[in-house]
Amino acid sequence: MFREFEREAKVFDLPARKFWHGAPDLDTSVTFHGQRASNPVGPAAGPQDQMAQNIVLAWLAGSRILELKTIQINDRLSIPRPCIDATTVGYNVEWSQELRLEDSLREYVAGSMLIDILKEVNLLGRPSDPDKDDTILDMSVGYDLQGIRSEPVRLWIESMKDASVHVEALRQQIPDEFRRFRDLDFTRRLSDQITLSTFHGCPAGEIEGIVRFLLTEMDVHVTVKLNPTLLGQERVDHLLHDVLGYREVETRAQDFEKDLQWEQALEITDRLSEVARAHGRTFQVKFSNTLVVRNHRRFFPATEEVMYLSGEPLHVLTLNLVEKYRQARPEVPISFSAGVDNRNFPDCAALGFTPITTCTDLLRPGGYARLPKYLENLEERMRALGVRTLGDYVVKSCAQGAEAIRRVVPPGGTQEALLGSLASERVALRETLEQRGAAHLFPRLVQQAALLNTPVVVAKVGAEPRYRAEQNRKEPRKIDSRLWMFDCINCDKCVPVCPNDANFIYETGLHRAAYQNYALHAGTVVAVPGGVFEVKKEHQIANFQDFCNECGNCDTFCPEYGGPFIEKPRFFGSLDAWRALPRDGFFCLRQVDVDAAWGRIRGVEYHLEVDRARDRGLFTDGAIRVELRHSERRPLTASARAGTAEGHTLDFAAYLNMALAIDGVLDPRRANPVNAAQA
Ligand code: SF4
Ligand code: SF4
Repeated sequence: MFREFEREAKVFDLPARKFWHGAPDLDTSVTFHGQRASNPVGPAAGPQDQMAQNIVLAWLAGSRILELKTIQINDRLSIPRPCIDATTVGYNVEWSQELRLEDSLREYVAGSMLIDILKEVNLLGRPSDPDKDDTILDMSVGYDLQGIRSEPVRLWIESMKDASVHVEALRQQIPDEFRRFRDLDFTRRLSDQITLSTFHGCPAGEIEGIVRFLLTEMDVHVTVKLNPTLLGQERVDHLLHDVLGYREVETRAQDFEKDLQWEQALEITDRLSEVARAHGRTFQVKFSNTLVVRNHRRFFPATEEVMYLSGEPLHVLTLNLVEKYRQARPEVPISFSAGVDNRNFPDCAALGFTPITTCTDLLRPGGYARLPKYLENLEERMRALGVRTLGDYVVKSCAQGAEAIRRVVPPGGTQEALLGSLASERVALRETLEQRGAAHLFPRLVQQAALLNTPVVVAKVGAEPRYRAEQNRKEPRKIDSRLWMFDCINCDKCVPVCPNDANFIYETGLHRAAYQNYALHAGTVVAVPGGVFEVKKEHQIANFQDFCNECGNCDTFCPEYGGPFIEKPRFFGSLDAWRALPRDGFFCLRQVDVDAAWGRIRGVEYHLEVDRARDRGLFTDGAIRVELRHSERRPLTASARAGTAEGHTLDFAAYLNMALAIDGVLDPRRANPVNAAQA
């Protein structure tokens, strides 16, 4: 983080100009389960927040409520690949955390500690406004009662509630260079709240049982994530097909029949709200989960019968569901996630949702850099309306404020004062109520306005062409070109679209030269014809394997064929990791004067050692060894190990590939996950 910021004015490839600073004149803060967050936005439990760097990226870009990726007892998942298709509206076949429980915990603790460090050094450069830093980590846990009650999951939740042991362990790992942070008072209570994910088809009794267990035995606040199937198949199909035109999307009756039914949802939310109150905890609902539909895309393996829909159509479906739910249970707080982007975020804020989480949009070109615009658009709308706080914004944003005031505040001086403030250029509803000793009415006023705003926003999105199928069918264009290890059109899309920041940019020298291979003939190593090796660009892309879960998103948006995470040089974070996964790729180690590198190219293993002081390289495939003048890529001598088979040939292009890639990623002018650990 620090080296990259110093050298390239970015952190985990997010440019500093995309960091969210927050407008000092506006208060966008919200309260979620009784805790303050500086704004309501953050990533939904998904591919964007399973690793420490995800958490940092989300935070720098403006997230202040982060729903961490769902954990579950089954932490040895095998997910079909590719698993994310965000080319049009958003489909996926992935689900929970792919790390082991203890690894997830380490990533979340590390992410929280890194945020504490960023706050401490004020990387955002905002000495006057620490109010913009208040952040909530929201655990996400799935999927059934037996798993959630299991010892490992209980311990995991307890460790998030008090992470002291894990904080101390990571504190010891802070390198000497950053020893000043070893004494930092790091956050230990990472989270005391959970958003519950259940399986599609999870019985009502089981959902209720899990939430009761979490509220009463784990002593956490709970948000339960509900499914869009609650709208009923007929209504979902009508919206999808007749209103929005997604006729190719097919729902299945069994998914609606098996899922939680409408009456059950109302009954359990009533009972659970009561249980929460009795235990001094809070309970709310989240709309919504993705929609299960038949897999009609060739993108995913044909073995997958269903896939999960998100993005634009889900936004419309879910807002309709919210409207229905609010008519039945207006008092239950709602967390929202469904096709949120910078254009509809201000309207979501106008509906009083807390938090408002986003996922599909951040998988599109720009990645996390898309997030600051959400908040900028909200801030712009707030200024245009003359409001300074989010509560006042909810009241004024959809022209329902006067009606909300009349419904909540009895006729008289206070009501008139509020109506006067609402019509003024500097709205101050809370202050007006405070001055008249009626501050307690403010939350009710905001809630009433959010309810009145709901049909207004639902009607608006239903009529907006941008949610319709014809506007969401365009897939990213591929050009007639195939990736290889070096050179491409350098669009750099693969870097920010990676939710894990696994792809990175590095530089190589240009290279064009004929080369010869080396073969053993009659007991002597001789030069034999090779080819021409050419690298035409300095700007290159590499992949850090330890961060990559092969979701395929960078392939989706890369204009060339082949997939950056497959074709570009793959670097491992340790020799053990390189040995454990028998894929093409490299591990390199910078030592005092010598760089050592292990490589696998088209399944053949190579080793390279470079003595930088003497400019000497030793390259071998384990049978033939070539000594070189490394800076010139020029062979000096070649020999064979005893026992090498007659005719065995060493591919010298493998050396050229390896030398260029390794010198490039170890170049200290740029920071990347490979040289960060070695510089
Ligand atoms: S690998 Fe693909 S997405 Fe990445 S920079 Fe090259 S062309 Fe663009
Ligand atoms: S590098 Fe590509 S495949 Fe790997 S995690 Fe990132 S987006 Fe997914």
